[in-house]
Amino acid sequence: MAQNFLQPLTGSFAKPAGENPTVAMIEAAFHHHGLDWRYMNCEVAPEDLGNAVKGARAMGWRGFNCSIPHKVAVIEHLDGLGQSAEIIGAVNTVVRQPDGRLIGENTDGKGFVRALSAVIEPRGKRVVLLGAGGAARAVAVEMALAGVSHITVVNRSRNRGEEVTRLIDTQTPANADLQPWDSTFSIPADTDIVVNATSIGLYPDVDAEPDIEYGSLTSDMVVADGIHNPPMTKLLKAASARGCQTVDGLSMLVGQGVIGLKYWTGIDADADVMRNALLELEL
Ligand code: NDP
Repeated sequence: MAQNFLQPLTGSFAKPAGENPTVAMIEAAFHHHGLDWRYMNCEVAPEDLGNAVKGARAMGWRGFNCSIPHKVAVIEHLDGLGQSAEIIGAVNTVVRQPDGRLIGENTDGKGFVRALSAVIEPRGKRVVLLGAGGAARAVAVEMALAGVSHITVVNRSRNRGEEVTRLIDTQTPANADLQPWDSTFSIPADTDIVVNATSIGLYPDVDAEPDIEYGSLTSDMVVADGIHNPPMTKLLKAASARGCQTVDGLSMLVGQGVIGLKYWTGIDADADVMRNALLELEL
């Protein structure tokens, strides 16, 4: 019987790449769904990115993720962008089309909205967004496209905060305001969703927590954290103790993976299988 030893390839380009657990999650999904595909975790220096993309083209890769520091730089090596990647101005997932073109998408925010939507319908909701970096930008744009009505951006540096606020006001149907983060921030009582999209609480700095007034969190608010390592951050513990529903950063990571797999393979991957693969790593 003829056998096919040619495996469709996907992967990731980043530097550093060693601590990125995505390969374990994606290969667990390939295995579970009986797909003889591979995901190659590659460390690529900034000056080698162009050649890495050429290599992926030459080898017919079905797609790849881009992480730090390539999310913006990769755009010039691609053939087009999806809607939210265009607005966000960054790409974390590249998808090879049937005609061979490489199209850049951004699943950072889509993965977050997917995870959030399992707990609360975003349409019409009011959001407090802590942070205005790359992750916050992606989350803000995607929440706005999913129909939230208002986003209050809370950020330490004013210029980054203004950029995200302007982006929401001018490029999406939602509106936004900026609050400086120069003292303990009290969450407004009409807030439905609070999102930590800063790097505060990320391993190894696990005792750090965002400077917000925990007493202003009420049990009707949903509190989400983009930090996936550790999954149970100090913020989520405090929110849980006050009766809030929570969404952790692992759900966001899994949400991104599910969407990436749909782009590359067309399958609806089992999110539980992917989450369990990450939990087994004991991050
Ligand atoms: P950036 O460096 O682009 O942005 C960091 C943000 O955190 C900025 O808004 C910065 O504020 C703020 N910040 C950092 N330290 C402090 C502090 N001590 N006090 C107040 N604000 C602070 O990072 P990214 O946006 O790329 O990533 C942020 C986090 O999101 C990372 O921890 C990453 O792990 C996580 N992430 C999770 C994903 C997931 O799938 N779970 C996907 C992508 C990211 P300022 O502008 O003032 O510097």
